[in-house]
Amino acid sequence: MLDVAIVGGGVCGLALAHSLQARHVDWRLFEARPRLGGRVLTATSASGTPLDLGPTWYWPGHQPSIARLVADLGLTSFAQNDDGRVLHLSDPAAAPQTVAVNTQGQLAPERTGLAAGESAGSVHGGALRVAGGMAALVQALAQPLPLERLLCGAAIDTLVDHGDCVELRWQQDGQQRSVSARRVVLALPPRVAEAFISFEPALGPELSDTLRATPTWMATAAKAAIAYESDFWRAAKHTGNAWVTHPQAVLAEVFDASTPGQGAALAGFAAMGAQARQQFKASMDLLTRNQLGQLFGVQAEDGELHAQDWAQEPTTCSPQDLAEDGLNGEHPVYGAALLAQPQWQGRLHFGGSETARQGGGYLEGALSAAARLRRVLAT
Ligand SMILES: Cc1cc2nc3c(=O)[nH]c(=O)nc-3n(C[C@H](O)[C@H](O)[C@H](O)COP(=O)(O)OP(=O)(O)OC[C@H]3O[C@@H](n4cnc5c(N)ncnc54)[C@H](O)[C@@H]3O)c2cc1C
Repeated sequence: MLDVAIVGGGVCGLALAHSLQARHVDWRLFEARPRLGGRVLTATSASGTPLDLGPTWYWPGHQPSIARLVADLGLTSFAQNDDGRVLHLSDPAAAPQTVAVNTQGQLAPERTGLAAGESAGSVHGGALRVAGGMAALVQALAQPLPLERLLCGAAIDTLVDHGDCVELRWQQDGQQRSVSARRVVLALPPRVAEAFISFEPALGPELSDTLRATPTWMATAAKAAIAYESDFWRAAKHTGNAWVTHPQAVLAEVFDASTPGQGAALAGFAAMGAQARQQFKASMDLLTRNQLGQLFGVQAEDGELHAQDWAQEPTTCSPQDLAEDGLNGEHPVYGAALLAQPQWQGRLHFGGSETARQGGGYLEGALSAAARLRRVLAT
């Protein structure tokens, strides 16, 4: 029997596995996808440019855990290219206008250069990125872990509490499989856990309601990233920042996704809702290229495009997340107290970024949840 079964191989599950490995605990990690990383996904262009299709940034000013982990893992970080200037396209028939954000993040009048003594504004609030993309973080976390303890392609569908242990069941290669563990940690979005996994005995109604009421951050987002031979927009004195606010927008927010020494790229978040993206699926690449061309010139239409629609990923986006697509863009308040309470007399624990008070929804939250679980499992 295992001591700890971790369900979910995103940053939360991997960070927890890392600490259990250091404590010589007998753990296994079960991941539904054929890859590790969860919402962290970095594509690589033919010329080797890393393109983040999931998380891109962290903010060391208020996210100490991720900042410390990046340093501890020996990863190289660099600042997002951003001096506060943004191309704003509000009319599909007109040219974009340059606007600028000041150091308080407020819109300032157009500015072509900085006055003496004036500090640059910032659209991204002092965000840092990781060389090699966020996948470098996942690789560095996974690299020291024994491969045989990391089971990909194992989508746990049932948990049965037997009183002295929990049985985990899943289907793999056409076969029903199961394993028992003294304790189980669900390191995945609460809504996905509630929708995907059958609990025997059933969870209480208050807990089920709380799981369902916890939105999965960015679950319905889609991202496109496009690699180029050069950062021609910088030569034209653009930062790569753009906002598109007219009703036919394809990408709502664009930014410079280049990595020093690893290639030039732009990336952006889809403006269209999940349903519209499916309707226009066959044309999304073309529409994306057209929009980048309108913003940065015809050269921007011609790069190597990679895209990811997270709404089409059932182990990230639950039916409830999909049903609420477009209802509210605000960052939810995360860290419901009930989700931090052990269930089944300490044999079942909920994790994942959305259970964290500190940085909930972000990478910081995934690490903060992992730290809480590490403390709980040590007792
Ligand atoms: C487009 C996008 C942009 C983002 N940008 C940023 C950013 O710039 N900065 C930032 O800090 N955060 C950002 N985020 C959020 C960040 O990605 C998440 O907070 C973080 O990755 C969550 O990690 P996690 O381990 O908690 O969950 P996840 O990464 O979701 O991992 C959960 C894992 O559990 C697996 N799983 C689910 N169900 C099962 C099951 N039944 N059995 C087995 N495995 C299962 C999933 O496949 C997944 O691998 C972004 C997210 C997206 C989608």
